[in-house]
Amino acid sequence: RNQVCYMITLISYGADRQLLAIRDLTQLEKLENVRRDFVANVSHELKTPLTVINGFIETLQTHHETLSTEKRQRFLDLALAQSHHMGRLVQDLLTLSSLEARATLVDETQVKVKPLIDDLVISAEAISAGAHTITMDIPEDLTIHGSATALRSIFGNLINNAVNYTPADGKIHISWRNVANEGVFSVQDTGIGIPAVHLPRLSERFYRVDRGRSRETGGTGLGLAIVKHALSRHQGHLEIKSQVNVGSTFEAWFPKARLNQS
Ligand code: ADP
Repeated sequence: RNQVCYMITLISYGADRQLLAIRDLTQLEKLENVRRDFVANVSHELKTPLTVINGFIETLQTHHETLSTEKRQRFLDLALAQSHHMGRLVQDLLTLSSLEARATLVDETQVKVKPLIDDLVISAEAISAGAHTITMDIPEDLTIHGSATALRSIFGNLINNAVNYTPADGKIHISWRNVANEGVFSVQDTGIGIPAVHLPRLSERFYRVDRGRSRETGGTGLGLAIVKHALSRHQGHLEIKSQVNVGSTFEAWFPKARLNQS
């Protein structure tokens, strides 16, 4: 992976003249590797639920007569859950590729932050099913000049992750603070935490600390990659602090120029 790659071409011109052209392809080679890994990952991520779905359909076809009604229903429910997972994966891939397709946002408006977060917290509470205490301190009048869809992805992914990676009875606090030239959206949880070695790679596509846990929660492994890209389209960035078995804080930093508070 750390190899250097050069293309050396000898060009002859005129009667006795030659030119040696050396092109550094290291960067291109690296990009090509990233692309190849990504395609392999996507194929694998789609293939896994597909294999499960096919397995259930084949079992239902072959043993239709002998299976109890409950068993048949259970298999159908499990197949449907896998199909929903594939749907989420495709949706996340589309979101990611549309964020990558352009350097700027095409749908910028003044987005009211509080109602958006209120909405997302209601969905998070449905996932949590009362297992967590979620508190919130977001200014009523705050707006961000940006894409409502992208901002929803940023806040939604961070809030849902806090719920998914915090055991029952845990606490989640969602807040906003203004610092010198930025505004910071923060989600703090008392969850499982993340070992420091993983932090630098966490927002890579399909990077997970614990594959089993991510699968259990229905995660696509693309949430933080989307957050990172969506933030960079707002000239913002992501900061993560975490301690194993204590909890994590995920912060989305936005430049002041995009913020409005009356
Ligand atoms: P996933 O769909 O797996 O949740 P993400 O890109 O959202 O994918 O997150 C990548 C990984 O980062 C997760 O699999 C998990 O290991 C870790 N992670 C994200 N948020 C948290 C959190 N609040 N607490 C602990 N680990 C987290």
